[in-house]
Amino acid sequence: MDVARLKSIVGAQHVRDAIDELYVYGADASVHQAMPQVVVRPGSIDEIREIARYANSELIPIVARGAGSGMSGHAVPLKGGIVLDMKRMNRIIEIKPDDMYCKVEPGVVDDDLNRALKPYGLSYPPSPASSRIATIGGEIGNNASGIRSVKYGATRDYVLGLKVVLADGELVDLGARTRVEAAGYQVHRLIVGSEGTLGIIVEATLKLVPLPKFRCLSVAMFDKLEDAGESIADIIASGCEPSMLELMDDIAIKAVNTTLNMGLPEVDAIIFFEADGKVKEAIDYEITTMQEICKKHNGQITATSYDLKERTKYFSGRKKLFAALAKYKDGYACTSLADDMAVPYTKMAECARKIHEIADKYGVIMTAYGHCGSGVMHTKILMNPNDKEKWEGAKKAVEAIYDYVDKVGGVTSGEHGIALSKAPAWKKARPDLMKVMTKIKKALDPNNILNPDKLMDAPDDWYTATPIRYMIDKEKTAG
Ligand SMILES: Cc1cc2nc3c(=O)[nH]c(=O)nc-3n(C[C@H](O)[C@H](O)[C@H](O)COP(=O)(O)OP(=O)(O)OC[C@H]3O[C@@H](n4cnc5c(N)ncnc54)[C@H](O)[C@@H]3O)c2cc1C
Repeated sequence: MDVARLKSIVGAQHVRDAIDELYVYGADASVHQAMPQVVVRPGSIDEIREIARYANSELIPIVARGAGSGMSGHAVPLKGGIVLDMKRMNRIIEIKPDDMYCKVEPGVVDDDLNRALKPYGLSYPPSPASSRIATIGGEIGNNASGIRSVKYGATRDYVLGLKVVLADGELVDLGARTRVEAAGYQVHRLIVGSEGTLGIIVEATLKLVPLPKFRCLSVAMFDKLEDAGESIADIIASGCEPSMLELMDDIAIKAVNTTLNMGLPEVDAIIFFEADGKVKEAIDYEITTMQEICKKHNGQITATSYDLKERTKYFSGRKKLFAALAKYKDGYACTSLADDMAVPYTKMAECARKIHEIADKYGVIMTAYGHCGSGVMHTKILMNPNDKEKWEGAKKAVEAIYDYVDKVGGVTSGEHGIALSKAPAWKKARPDLMKVMTKIKKALDPNNILNPDKLMDAPDDWYTATPIRYMIDKEKTAG
């Protein structure tokens, strides 16, 4: 690695190769860990082009990185090489309120963009729960979505155009500024969700929508998870258009109560549903219809409000769930394995029950919650990461979950993407897709330098073939 050359491209202060920094850049929010040889923080498109040209000629891997909040090892540089930290490129280039789009650099943080859009009465809605830190580049890389995607869709629905540096350093301008474009391959849409394997996004043109004038949130409690599941399926089938429809199971409720003292009733399931829009009467109608559906399935409506403060209070248990799970039990880690499958609406409750059964069978703690309005079921595996037996149990639990998901016609990832942890199950489930993706990858990155060994090229066994962060820590402590 010619570190001096990289320094000459971006400036010495923007190149890092101290061991402690490399260690930090070797991890994301997943269980995986692998150190890069160098971290480079480019400040311009030209710098990125030059870095790509150099890396391509020397066959050095490049892993683009936003905030590193991916949950499956997306930004973990499995083959070492260069981590390209995109956070210096964080300019909002322009906001065009009349044309309803904006142009941004990839390092812009989602919440910062939405703060800048607010005075125009506009929003960029596919925001993930990590919007406080997640960058637009990382969201595009993962095709991120979030609590409001049930109504507003995922990142792919909002990317109108992209400027991308290809593996050989060529800069291409893809897509359009208009809402529609009929001609040709929609290559910019292909880049969305490509997890840094096809090109480095250096500019994005994003579709915007007006901020809703009103929002109303309601909460329903259920003594039986199955009743909550049927309510979710009926709400969607009723033609209602919730702007949020979220589920929490009993373990999730217990987690926020014990670690954050939330005081939620310890029922079998809670659903949160919201409607938004310009006309209050229309929202009242939607909320009332959803409430009636919940009541029909033995749900008890415990709260309803238009007020921002109250809505925030009611929803805070769900909002803080990830943090609560991380603190669930001393010495336990909250791992994002098999964490975001999507199943048909009618299988939601069955899927949650199945998760509990599988957890019991393999001796780990698992919770079921998620953006059920979009069909996404989240789970986390909680366990003592220093206990090898628990890892074996977790591995079997992951396999059992994906076998079930496949059987009921679900998909491996409805939200967070594939990267490393989910690749084995995904590859097994989608053989035809693997063939086509492999051809596309070869055409765009023949030397395989862009985030190698991810998606279809990821190891078939995430557990033994990819370094596990907690295990590395343990070895270090032992040594
Ligand atoms: C607490 C928590 C909550 C979360 N909630 C959600 C959620 O609700 N919904 C959801 O979808 N995800 C969620 N995530 C996962 C993650 O935060 C999102 O997917 C987010 O979009 C990743 O953004 P990032 O900037 O951290 O990207 P990174 O993790 O840095 O990168 C993600 C991928 O994009 C690629 N990439 C980054 N920048 C570029 C670029 N400029 N060009 C090309 N490729 C690039 C990377 O190589 C990598 O493959 C959550 C994570 C955490 C920790």
